[in-house]
Amino acid sequence: MSDANGYTEAQLQIQRMVREFSRKEVAPGAEERDRESRFDYELYRRLGGLGLPGMLLPEQFAGSDTDALSFCLALEEMSRVDMSLALTMWVGIQGAQSMAHGTDEQIAAWRGKYIEPTARGEMVSAGAITEPDAGSDTAALKTRAVADGDEWVINGSKIFISNAGLEHCGFAMVLCRTDEGYGIIIVPTGTPGYTMGPPLRKMGLRSSDTRELSFDDCRVPALNLLGGRGSGREAIITGGFYITRLYLGSQAIGVAAECLDLSLAYAKRRIAFKRPIARFEYVQGMLVEMALEVELGRLLRDKACRMHDAHQYYAKEAAMTKLFCTEMAKRAADHAVQVFGGAGYMDETPVSRYYRDIRAATIAEGTSEVQKYIIAREMGCFQDGG
Ligand SMILES: Cc1cc2nc3c(=O)[nH]c(=O)nc-3n(C[C@H](O)[C@H](O)[C@H](O)COP(=O)(O)OP(=O)(O)OC[C@H]3O[C@@H](n4cnc5c(N)ncnc54)[C@H](O)[C@@H]3O)c2cc1C
Repeated sequence: MSDANGYTEAQLQIQRMVREFSRKEVAPGAEERDRESRFDYELYRRLGGLGLPGMLLPEQFAGSDTDALSFCLALEEMSRVDMSLALTMWVGIQGAQSMAHGTDEQIAAWRGKYIEPTARGEMVSAGAITEPDAGSDTAALKTRAVADGDEWVINGSKIFISNAGLEHCGFAMVLCRTDEGYGIIIVPTGTPGYTMGPPLRKMGLRSSDTRELSFDDCRVPALNLLGGRGSGREAIITGGFYITRLYLGSQAIGVAAECLDLSLAYAKRRIAFKRPIARFEYVQGMLVEMALEVELGRLLRDKACRMHDAHQYYAKEAAMTKLFCTEMAKRAADHAVQVFGGAGYMDETPVSRYYRDIRAATIAEGTSEVQKYIIAREMGCFQDGG
């Protein structure tokens, strides 16, 4: 059984469950959390109770081994009401996801300490890649890890890192330069020499945590290197970022879909010149554009998810999803503010928050310009001949 989008009954069930929880439990406090720049730990634990952070982890690690499309549908529904919470969740599971592919020795060390608590919603992790002088250009990163006996000694700094300062953040995955290339190294919170700056003040996504991190002769066991020596940057560039682009793309679809629904309802009840503003062609134009682009975004995202789930190569589709969905959601939030008029500019209406929140989406996880570069590369633009 499937619907017009081709979603299976199991996927539709997850979509309904997250929709209901998001409307009833997440939406009511979203505006306040944003205003106070406050993260709600109790609410996050309840996501764990629903099994959401563990959806993609294998059953042996307290997960449910769900497909990527189901997880993306969950992110889409949650982002309709609170983009910060959904962002915290998908960023927060990345560490455990990577650990689950570790060596037997690593899994034995990390399973009870990090992987299973993440699946239960008791822990999150951070992914530390960006540096003050190395954002899009990850090859310019300076954070260095030097092998010393059976330890790594890390020095450097990272910036704009999500989740690291949350009370239940267990560790950061830190992209470092080593003598043998790049490596992703697990640095547990509380390791001597690992310090965090205060929360950065942001335009939006205010109830998510973002900070600067620094590593000053920070020592961790040699075991903490993920994926083998020299594989770190490759792992991120060639694999890790594909799926996270679908996550952020799904968040953008959720924001755009909610902007559309709110704008359509408002346009039908707001009267100007003795008629609902939905009767005006220019307003219809914005609504139609939003409706069309949400549909198109879903088609792209669903295709990329299915390619991921079928273990196919989907670098181009991931970049297209991220580029199109985040750019179209930015337009949708802008249209929503316009349809709401003055009310749209006031914080009493959620569209003002969506407008601020979505602005980060065309920057984080690879900017729109970087996505265009990737698509061009995948199209063969850098290969001569035809
Ligand atoms: C809310 C938020 C959360 C974040 N969370 C994390 C996190 O958890 N972990 C993490 O590591 N990072 C995180 N980041 C950082 C994010 O990944 C970077 O901001 C992003 O990769 C861009 O890097 P930059 O800011 O240094 O910009 P730059 O790379 O300096 O880019 C500046 C401008 O130049 C353009 N540009 C750069 N190179 C090219 C090129 N070759 N061709 C065309 N244009 C180019 C860019 O597209 C952009 O418009 C987060 C950012 C935000 C906003």
